Amino acid sequence: MYLVILIVFLSALIFTAMRLQKKKPVKAGPIPLAYKRLLAQEVPFYQQLDENKKNAFEERVQHFLAQVRITGVNTTVEDIDRVLVAASAVIPIFNFSDWEYINLHEVLLYPDSFDHDFEQQGGGRNILGMVGSGAMNHMMILSQFELRQAFSNRTGKNNTAIHEFVHLVDKTDGSIDGVPESLLDKKYIVPWLQLMQKEIELIHDDRSDIDPYGSTNQAEFFAVVSEYFFERPALLQEKRPELYELLLKIFKQQRDK
Ligand SMILES: [Zn+2]
Repeated sequence: MYLVILIVFLSALIFTAMRLQKKKPVKAGPIPLAYKRLLAQEVPFYQQLDENKKNAFEERVQHFLAQVRITGVNTTVEDIDRVLVAASAVIPIFNFSDWEYINLHEVLLYPDSFDHDFEQQGGGRNILGMVGSGAMNHMMILSQFELRQAFSNRTGKNNTAIHEFVHLVDKTDGSIDGVPESLLDKKYIVPWLQLMQKEIELIHDDRSDIDPYGSTNQAEFFAVVSEYFFERPALLQEKRPELYELLLKIFKQQRDK
């Protein structure tokens, strides 16, 4: 009798243990200390987060690195590159908690600017970064030099890696057109289109401090002002408050400062 009870008890225990094991979500391991240090040293966006959000940011970085391969082409990928690519991916979508870059499998790092025989779509400043299409679909190419440079320059408004990830976010709804329908509440679409038009005209008239590359088309405008927004938020707020406010809504950023 005791034996039967014991067997039933043990079976129940094993069954429960198996269920628990099954339910355990697949998680990327904890962030290496070296990565954490690099985030703290090199990524201003991370520096201004509170402790809870820093933890969340680290988890997103780990998650990204578990999903996307980073490959050096004629160069060696170092920790700093992995951290900066992942940070550039996480920054634009940080406040969209379940965001996945479903359209990206691999990031290729070239030592510096590259010639392009690639089919390209949404190629930002062609030679420093691009989002692949056609045969290069699900790929992104970045200049390693530019990646590091953008994060070490604290007064610039440019960041090619963020630019390319914003194109990818824009692409999620099917087209790179400057209207990120997967982020943007419907009621803001018309105001956003109108504001883009107005701001592009100001660039054409030489009355804007936004990088002229942004006047190429609406897709480039969105990517270029997003760089500005994440690199120099206070300056953008001062110079172009209306644009700043709408970008806050698009990226669901709540800033204390
Ligand atoms: Zn671009």
